[in-house]
Amino acid sequence: MGTDRRDFLIGVGALTASTAFGGRALYAQAKPRVVVIGGGPGGATAAKYLAKDSQGAIEVVLVEPKEAFTTCFHSNLYLGGFKNIADITHRYDALVSSYGIRHIRQWANAVDRDKREVVLADGSRISYDRLVLSPGIDLRYDSVPGWSKAAEEAMPHAWQAGPQTELLKRQLDAVPDGGLVVMIAPPNPFRCPPGPYERVSMMAHALKSSGRKRAKIIVIDPKETFSKQPLFQQGWERHYPGMIEWLGPKGHEGVKSVDPGMMTVTTGLGSYKACALVNVIPAQRAGRIAVEAGLTNASGYCPIHPETMKSVNDPNIAILGDASIAGDMPKSAFSANSQAKVAAMVIRGELTGARTFPARYTNTCWSMITPEDTVKVGGRYEPKLDKITAVETFISKTDESAEYRKSVQAENLGWYAGITADIFS
Ligand SMILES: Cc1cc2nc3c(=O)[nH]c(=O)nc-3n(C[C@H](O)[C@H](O)[C@H](O)COP(=O)(O)OP(=O)(O)OC[C@H]3O[C@@H](n4cnc5c(N)ncnc54)[C@H](O)[C@@H]3O)c2cc1C
Repeated sequence: MGTDRRDFLIGVGALTASTAFGGRALYAQAKPRVVVIGGGPGGATAAKYLAKDSQGAIEVVLVEPKEAFTTCFHSNLYLGGFKNIADITHRYDALVSSYGIRHIRQWANAVDRDKREVVLADGSRISYDRLVLSPGIDLRYDSVPGWSKAAEEAMPHAWQAGPQTELLKRQLDAVPDGGLVVMIAPPNPFRCPPGPYERVSMMAHALKSSGRKRAKIIVIDPKETFSKQPLFQQGWERHYPGMIEWLGPKGHEGVKSVDPGMMTVTTGLGSYKACALVNVIPAQRAGRIAVEAGLTNASGYCPIHPETMKSVNDPNIAILGDASIAGDMPKSAFSANSQAKVAAMVIRGELTGARTFPARYTNTCWSMITPEDTVKVGGRYEPKLDKITAVETFISKTDESAEYRKSVQAENLGWYAGITADIFS
């Protein structure tokens, strides 16, 4: 063992003794340690509830390079002009000061599953009794011909929030009246199934409300159908007539290439030249660290046990949120938060003997079409038939009153305030 590791481990502050043996046996820990990789809705919620509910009996370490987290959820409201970046950005300070979580501001480079250690970007290692992995998604840059990491500066994805979201907003602001906006939508399975269509709605709202109602948005979609389709399409006709055209696979026969220099998108049925804005939302998979730790299957995501959120490949690792294969649950912040509470309960039970209960999950996804017309879909879920299975679902109906739709938007705003407080404070 090198000095770096010794220094780092002592710095973590939970190690009391050493033995003559290598690996994690070198230092005995005063109390069990859970390392959480990723401070999004999955990881930050798990870290908080592990620390809060164990009241100091578990040492919780959160590995997340950022000092504050900008949420993808409600980033479409930022595009629409209803929120600013500060409204959707949340610091980790309260998790540290209120619950004693240690926040290590580094990338985790690897998981050494045999030794039960996480290798950090600076080369130091930290051992764990249990690992919670919630790294979100990685973008498959090669899924759209001509697009790349470099090209995202011209044709942003904004599917991981932060500078990309701000770039997309600047480009939206630059679209002239009569200009063309192109969105390339992703194939299943992807983060936030209604997200692209809420985004289109918010783009149309921003364009229309700033006097640019002759602008047009074309959505090139590889899917035959999409989430809440009748609700969105009715809303688009009602509020943004002539502004949004959705093309399923038969309407374009596939994206053949994009040219970020020319801002063109070429499909099997023709080319589109955009004014200022091409939003490329590519295919996705679990975050790289999950892939490299051998926790994904051929789908690119991580199979889990529905009773515990634990990896089917490793009983010491729970996988949450977008990186997991969560059965009927969509990849949403609400889902990740719900899954995190189950995983935290199970791990606390194992490490401290605390009582556990059968896993129960919930989700609701609200989508804003206009500030007064919001729709929702959701359900309750339980482990059943070897997966997380919906036991009750609901979805908005096309004939709901304007007054009711307005109340759904109030729910949406209340939900955001509630869930971000639940995750980050
Ligand atoms: C436009 C849009 C709108 C959305 N709207 C909604 C909505 O209205 N409601 C809803 O519920 N959901 C919504 N979502 C989905 C939601 O944002 C995601 O499902 C949610 O963020 C997933 O949480 P997560 O914890 O799995 O991953 P993430 O939120 O991606 O968090 C992962 C974190 O892990 C960190 N990380 C990754 N790898 C490492 C590593 N190796 N080492 C250290 N840290 C690492 C990252 O820095 C990141 O902070 C929306 C998404 C988009 C794109």
